[in-house]
Amino acid sequence: MTEYTLPGVSPGERDRQQEFAARVRAILEAQFPERPPRAFVHTYGCQGNVADSERLKGQLAAMGYVFTEDREQADLVLFNTCAVREHAQDRVFGNVGALKPVKEKRRHMKIVLCGCMMQQAHVVQRIKRSYPFVDLVFGTFAVHRLPELLYQTLRGGKRVFETTETAGEIVEGLPVYRDGDFKAWLPIMYGCNNFCTYCVVPYVRGRERSRSPEAVIEEARELIAGGAKEITLLGQNVNSYGKNSGDGVTFPALLRRINALEGDFKIRFMTSHPKDCSKELLDAMAECEKAARHLHLPFQSGSSRVLRAMNRGYTRQDYLDLIAYAKKVMPDLSLTSDVIVGFPGETYEEFQETLSLIREVKFTSLFTFIFSPREGTKAITMEDPVPAAEKSKWFAELLKTQEAIAAQRCAAMLGRTYEVLVENETKENDGRLTGRTEGNVNIDFPGDPSLIGRYVNVRVTEAKNWVLAGELAL
Ligand code: SAM
Ligand code: SF4
Repeated sequence: MTEYTLPGVSPGERDRQQEFAARVRAILEAQFPERPPRAFVHTYGCQGNVADSERLKGQLAAMGYVFTEDREQADLVLFNTCAVREHAQDRVFGNVGALKPVKEKRRHMKIVLCGCMMQQAHVVQRIKRSYPFVDLVFGTFAVHRLPELLYQTLRGGKRVFETTETAGEIVEGLPVYRDGDFKAWLPIMYGCNNFCTYCVVPYVRGRERSRSPEAVIEEARELIAGGAKEITLLGQNVNSYGKNSGDGVTFPALLRRINALEGDFKIRFMTSHPKDCSKELLDAMAECEKAARHLHLPFQSGSSRVLRAMNRGYTRQDYLDLIAYAKKVMPDLSLTSDVIVGFPGETYEEFQETLSLIREVKFTSLFTFIFSPREGTKAITMEDPVPAAEKSKWFAELLKTQEAIAAQRCAAMLGRTYEVLVENETKENDGRLTGRTEGNVNIDFPGDPSLIGRYVNVRVTEAKNWVLAGELAL
């Protein structure tokens, strides 16, 4: 748990928000004279949201809140929401609904909804209409304005909705409250210009905006000084970092600069888009000794026809060529990916092309999704004749295929020793720890919790399907 304060490039707005933070703090001190106010923050969705939540929590802490895991004890509940798939969205509505009886018992409690879902007009309408107990709603472009919006909510006694559709400049210098010291998320850019036909992200996160290299490097330095052992650079398409900022620092150049910083840490990044993943980037990765030998490169479909319908900007062969080059310059590279099953109009034969690509590349692991129609996207208007039950069967076939590959990959790791970053105790609480290899594979092993946050060597002693167990090695 660390608090950082970064040098800012937008001091005017930051200072304005600091003034509101001071006013909120005064209101809360009067309202809670005996104890600090408690906030429960829950994050849905991707690491981009996790990073936003760290900034939201930083601002809440600056206003005097402490954090609780128990929403029944909270004075403020904040949900940072995800709009990427319908399932995630339904979960949010379900969880917001469940807050109604909690608020009936704790009438002073403030309920705050923010994030990607709140950039969608139909969602905001539904909240206005059906969830009158929600106090504050704001979208992804207003993360830095939490103090001002909370002030209005606390003072005005009225519900506040701030869902502007335009992204302003990036506000630097927000306080950041991190849940972990050794694993850090570092946003390098926001938004997306790609408009894949299935995806809602460009609509809810706006166009690409890159942070300045100086701001990124400064934050990386602070993270390393604070004990970070692994820094993950974040963006919807990190390969287009700097393309629209005019200072000439590309993503490969940024990677080299971070690699040159002193310290014992590794760099990961996500997400890379295959259409912009250049040989230059793969060469830079190969040269940077701190860049983990792990590439997350979503392919989405193994069929060139489906990829075209998805507006992905590459063919099956382009993807395979890229993988071949990556493996040539980094023979020990571990590959992970995202894949969608049941895109509108996808045939069973085209789905088989996805399976054959998976068998050919042999990914370490996959994030697998069934196509989810999203309002406002092009794909929602496309003919989608395959029934949901059929798509579920394809999905099961996909999982089975990947499980067999993962099991083979795990079996090949048996007897070998890997450096792992120790992340936590296992859920079973059985004196075992979980660590992650550079290639992003988890291994459980017996060990003392004091090792958490350190790199240790672990020899793999057991490979049960795709679950690995091991023991500490020298
Ligand atoms: N920017 C990243 C990229 O281009 O690979 C991905 C960001 S998106 C939040 C994460 C993943 O969600 C995508 O790679 C895709 O596989 C999946 N996804 C996005 N929209 C989807 C939809 N409508 N239905 C199913 N899966 C979806
Ligand atoms: Fe969505 Fe495509 Fe942008 Fe990724 S690149 S966020 S999948 S539109």
